[in-house]
Amino acid sequence: MALIVHKYGGTSMGSTERIQQVAKRVAKWARAGHQMIVVPSAMSGETNRLLALAKELAPAHSTPNTLRELDMIAATGEQVSVGLLSLALQAEGAPAVSFAGWQVPVRTDCAYTKARIGAIDDQRVRKELDAGKVVIITGFQGVDDQGNITTLGRGGSDTSAVAIAAAMKADECLIYTDVDGVYTTDPRIVPEARRMGVLSFEEMLEMASMGSKVLQIRAVEFAVKYSMPIRVLSSFTPWDIPVEEEENSGTLITFEEDEKMEKALVSGIAFNRDEAKISVLGVPDRPGIAYQILGTVADANIEVDAIIQNISKDGKTDFTFTVNQSDYARTMELLQEKIMPATGAAEIIGDTKISKVSIVGIGMRSHAGVASKMFRALAEEGINIQMIATSEIKTSVVIDEKYLELAVRALHKAFELDAPDEAPASA
Ligand code: ADP
Ligand code: ASP
Ligand code: MG
Repeated sequence: MALIVHKYGGTSMGSTERIQQVAKRVAKWARAGHQMIVVPSAMSGETNRLLALAKELAPAHSTPNTLRELDMIAATGEQVSVGLLSLALQAEGAPAVSFAGWQVPVRTDCAYTKARIGAIDDQRVRKELDAGKVVIITGFQGVDDQGNITTLGRGGSDTSAVAIAAAMKADECLIYTDVDGVYTTDPRIVPEARRMGVLSFEEMLEMASMGSKVLQIRAVEFAVKYSMPIRVLSSFTPWDIPVEEEENSGTLITFEEDEKMEKALVSGIAFNRDEAKISVLGVPDRPGIAYQILGTVADANIEVDAIIQNISKDGKTDFTFTVNQSDYARTMELLQEKIMPATGAAEIIGDTKISKVSIVGIGMRSHAGVASKMFRALAEEGINIQMIATSEIKTSVVIDEKYLELAVRALHKAFELDAPDEAPASA
């Protein structure tokens, strides 16, 4: 008997019919003799609907008090899902019980709308599992020290599932979604994208951090920290396929040492439309200036991504960096209010019409010339590169958002990631 965690995303939970399919699948795993924990997301579109309602009443950007209420509202989507799934499982004859995050409890810090999980109590869950029940726990939410409900950031149910799997020392964590695995790039943008059978944690971490939304980045961070291999697979296969078949499908994300791992030069192309670029122009080029600007932004709990500093001219320099679109207005305001007067910056300019495209692969470590091949492919399409950021296993560029899809397709082709043409059927 193994302890298995299943996570089902919004589309997988999108209607009562879909929830019945999920229940049948989970009941099948339970009948196969496994202890089951299920972590569902809100039904598709529900979190957007809830946040849009909130926006109608509080359109201005957020204070800690408004953020607290946003979490109170957004967390209800998952609460509906766990209750419905529990009813569906009981109708299948599988004893089940649902818990909201605070009932487990899943403890987080108090950073509303992007809280981090600190600890998960396993006692209550363990007791119900030992009583033979399927335990269903809300994704995306937790509770802070003061008993306030928190949420983990969009796509956060992935993180809930992996963190729960790690805390419960589960044998497997299966992430069921609306695609049948992790592809070389988003198959909605490049239909020729190829599913990868195995992917290293490190590559998945880069793919996720560069914007591939198939897994939330913090989910991958947890998986790495607790050595919890995860499998991404489809919830749209017939529910009654054998458990063993499911266990070998989709994409396994695991250690680099795994013998199944191919060391591809570039294994995938990730992209992110959700960033904005900010430049602080004409600041004095002196020690501490980067800290002054970026420290102020970090203190406001805003994450900064690609950063460049220009060569200094006449003792002045320029800083450019990217932040998430949702933090853009707040960052601009912060810079105008604090950094302009403190540094005497000449100007602060922003651009929200940018996108970031990244190539990712562990093979890049040992091969020179990968970045230049990327730049050539973009140049051939007439795409201008505004910023470049690199790590050992990825190169990212910031470009005008209108060229995003073109860039992704061009790079997918240049690095020969397109799936081979289907062999013609023999007569
Ligand atoms: P869920 O609701 O199950 O969490 P998401 O919509 O968050 O599902 O993530 C699945 C989606 O991620 C897919 O439908 C696909 O469009 C998108 N996606 C982006 N990059 C990739 C990739 N490299 N491989 C597979 N899917 C990807
Ligand atoms: N329901 C949340 C969202 O839409 C969390 C998730 O789906 O993972 O972002
Ligand atoms: Mg998701």
